[in-house]
Amino acid sequence: MKNKFIIKINEKWCKGCNLCIEFCPKNVLELKDAKAKVVSPEDCIGCYICEYRCPDFAIEVNKVEEEVPVGSEKTNKR
Ligand code: SF4
Ligand code: SF4
Repeated sequence: MKNKFIIKINEKWCKGCNLCIEFCPKNVLELKDAKAKVVSPEDCIGCYICEYRCPDFAIEVNKVEEEVPVGSEKTNKR
């Protein structure tokens, strides 16, 4: 099962200090209009650095497991 990560940014708390953007090893985040924005969530490896580094607790990273539907479709092949 592949893990996915959802990054939530609380824009009310973000002061645009750029720390999360600088520390993210995968360039998932960018600064736009003086707020951190998630630009490529599919590249996130779930290292939680952004969450730990944000001085304002404005970032939350959550792991979600992709559901693979089992038996929900007919997969009979001839
Ligand atoms: S968890 Fe890691 S890879 Fe994902 S956005 Fe934060 S710093 Fe980047
Ligand atoms: S580290 Fe926190 S306050 Fe700074 S830009 Fe990122 S989300 Fe905003």
